[in-house]
Amino acid sequence: MYDLAIVGCGPAGMTAAIYGARANLSVVLLDRLAPGGQIINTNEIQNYPGMGTVNGAELAIKMYEHTQELGVPLDYRTVTSVERTENGFSLLSSEYPDDPVSARAVVMATGTSPRTLGVEGEGRFKGNGVSWCAVCDGAACKGQDVIVVGGGNSAVEEALFLSEVARSVTVLVRRTMRADPASCDLLRARENVTIREGWSVVSFEGGSCLEAARVRCSATGEEEVISCQHAFEYVGLDPVTDCVSDLGVLDEAGYVIADQGMRTSVPGLFAAGDCIAKELRQVVTACSDGAVAARSAAHWLKTAR
Ligand SMILES: Cc1cc2nc3c(=O)[nH]c(=O)nc-3n(C[C@H](O)[C@H](O)[C@H](O)COP(=O)(O)OP(=O)(O)OC[C@H]3O[C@@H](n4cnc5c(N)ncnc54)[C@H](O)[C@@H]3O)c2cc1C
Repeated sequence: MYDLAIVGCGPAGMTAAIYGARANLSVVLLDRLAPGGQIINTNEIQNYPGMGTVNGAELAIKMYEHTQELGVPLDYRTVTSVERTENGFSLLSSEYPDDPVSARAVVMATGTSPRTLGVEGEGRFKGNGVSWCAVCDGAACKGQDVIVVGGGNSAVEEALFLSEVARSVTVLVRRTMRADPASCDLLRARENVTIREGWSVVSFEGGSCLEAARVRCSATGEEEVISCQHAFEYVGLDPVTDCVSDLGVLDEAGYVIADQGMRTSVPGLFAAGDCIAKELRQVVTACSDGAVAARSAAHWLKTAR
């Protein structure tokens, strides 16, 4: 029985682990993938204080090393359900159905997953032209024509990255760009980038590989076929919170509702990072939430009967 089990080894979970261990709690991190969370797949992070411009994977490794210096074990498993027990919680997993992890308190730090467009051809070209990760698949775009779908910060950052590799980058945004003005200006200044506001993808087309995207103008209904060998989608995120869906702690969109102390309505259950209902989903806010959640958990463990 651990004092604290943390589901998710991204920035929020790793910070919670650091603060939990330093509060002398016995802590375990649980993740279905390699440590680091979403930043592993981010080329450059330019807004984490003190780091200047840092590669996402490098920052993730530094955070993970910090948890290891404090001796926090990482247990690879996909948590399918968090259940309340007499003494705390039982965390069930798909890999070890007969060997749940027991803990007196839990921090949910499971983040989000990228949303899909749901258009024709998307499933067929997934991993073969259609991607959600420029860092993973960008190298294959050398000298090619690429489209990026979305107008938020992630779309702009990844389009900037791709513009250094690809021959051309066309950014399609359903309405208008909503990323930081400074980043949008940087993107507009790139000679091989075209931004098309008011255009969306209708379908992906091709033979064995992606060859084109059919796009539509929302104002006129006009359609065009744009030649492209790769398409990257950044059209929003969905919370990854299935494992606590029975506990009555989620809002309508599926995000965990947590108070300022990262406490949910279930005593002993805390949440941090992108999986909670909040305004700004960034590394710095995920880390902040993780620190607060671990402190609240430590306080709760001391005072709860
Ligand atoms: C393309 C892109 C670019 C970005 N650029 C920046 C940037 O420049 N600056 C910035 O500050 N932020 C950036 N962000 C946002 C930043 O990555 C997130 O805010 C941050 O990673 C959130 O951390 P987290 O720990 O809450 O969640 P995540 O990083 O999503 O980590 C969640 C972890 O939980 C694990 N997990 C989920 N479900 C389970 C389960 N059931 N069982 C076990 N493990 C589970 C996942 O495997 C994952 O490791 C970017 C995001 C994207 C997508």
